[in-house]
Amino acid sequence: MRYVIIGGCIAAMGAVEGIRSIDKKGSITILDGEQRGVYSRPLISYYLAQPDRFKNLAYRSAEYLDHHGVDVMKGWAVQIDRSRREVVLHDGQIISYDRLLIATGAAPFIPDISGIKAPWVKTFYTIADVEALDSILTKGHNALIIGSGLIGMKAAESLRQRGLNVSVIEKERHILPRILSPESANMVNCLLNEAGIKTQCGEELTAVNENQANFASGLCLPVDILVLAMGTKPHIELAMDAGLKVNQGIMVDEYLQTSDENIYAAGDVIETRNIITGTSEIMALLPLAHREGYLAGVNMAGSKSCAYEGGIFMNSLNILGISICSAGSLPRAETEFLVWQEDHKYLQIFLDGDFLCKYIAVNLPEVTGPLTNTIADKIRIEKRLWQHFMTSPTLSAFPDVYWQKLRKEANYDYNKCS
Ligand SMILES: Cc1cc2nc3c(=O)[nH]c(=O)nc-3n(C[C@H](O)[C@H](O)[C@H](O)COP(=O)(O)OP(=O)(O)OC[C@H]3O[C@@H](n4cnc5c(N)ncnc54)[C@H](O)[C@@H]3O)c2cc1C
Repeated sequence: MRYVIIGGCIAAMGAVEGIRSIDKKGSITILDGEQRGVYSRPLISYYLAQPDRFKNLAYRSAEYLDHHGVDVMKGWAVQIDRSRREVVLHDGQIISYDRLLIATGAAPFIPDISGIKAPWVKTFYTIADVEALDSILTKGHNALIIGSGLIGMKAAESLRQRGLNVSVIEKERHILPRILSPESANMVNCLLNEAGIKTQCGEELTAVNENQANFASGLCLPVDILVLAMGTKPHIELAMDAGLKVNQGIMVDEYLQTSDENIYAAGDVIETRNIITGTSEIMALLPLAHREGYLAGVNMAGSKSCAYEGGIFMNSLNILGISICSAGSLPRAETEFLVWQEDHKYLQIFLDGDFLCKYIAVNLPEVTGPLTNTIADKIRIEKRLWQHFMTSPTLSAFPDVYWQKLRKEANYDYNKCS
């Protein structure tokens, strides 16, 4: 069996492990368009902050790939010929496959506005982006980050650590709009300002001129470096051109199979099931990318036997010592919630009957693991127990039901099939 994987990062590594759990002999070829090896994107902010200290961003080593008999070809795939089962590379090389995995991830969204190609306008997504930023940054200069999501915030932190004056500009009404509530955002905003990162919300970038950024409100800010962190868009072009079923991301069934039985897809490029809302969404998260890749690999090598249950949104970031965690989604607009707040700590939990469906935690990292597991495993915990926990949300006060379930499942194997 010839397995070909387009893209060589997280989902691809999951797939290698999934394939090899079933098929020890088939040939595996990775088409690595980025040509920087298999690395962990979340580590790029540490690399930018301290380039001399954090050079090794590897997610898996070259020796690891060698050990698994994986052939890595440096090259960008430009076409999938489904009838011939071939992938065409940018230089004209043709690679044949029996089973293909599309694991092409996503790329930063770049708005089509005047001046966006100025040399001091950058993105923050790859090792190459970090190197490009590093080559132009100067201590004391003004850096403007457009977008206050996780990626924008990590860019802000790194540039602040490099001694730049950093401002984060957000189009929505509060920072981290997909992670925080207005109240928790307010608290984090104050902490960020104290830590030296300025923020401004409700401003939409309209143009970039001679070292200045213009916004829809008429606001005009001087800037030496502008970082675009306005969201991402999945690399779906190949799949679209090949006539595969595509929506916002590539559409797959529960076995990660696309509308072509010989082609699978995994990671940031696909839409998957949000297990809280039941909807099909792009859930661009590293652990999900690996799991999807793993299950796709197992199904590619076997008999389509491992169904993917879907995932939950989860975010965990630390910005200049401020810990922010959130997981889950709201199944209904009027979902009930409870709030606890003390000094610089904040916890908000959202309940759907006896089920926790989402939480937001600021500077309370000790309770986030159990909270995330409770959502992901859909553990039923009565509302009165949550009310009690929220009077003093510590690990020891976490409802007993959770610990009992944990003890039962102590031998749970993350990579097991069902
Ligand atoms: C700064 C930053 C911080 C992050 N922090 C977190 C975090 O804290 N937690 C978390 O869960 N997630 C985080 N993420 C997201 C996480 O990195 C992604 O979810 C994960 O990398 C997705 O893996 P993937 O394999 O699907 O795609 P990717 O890692 O994007 O890999 C896809 C690869 O395919 C290549 N490719 C694309 N098209 C082609 C083609 N036509 N031919 C050949 N190659 C191609 C791309 O160049 C890329 O190398 C972060 C991302 C960034 C940028």
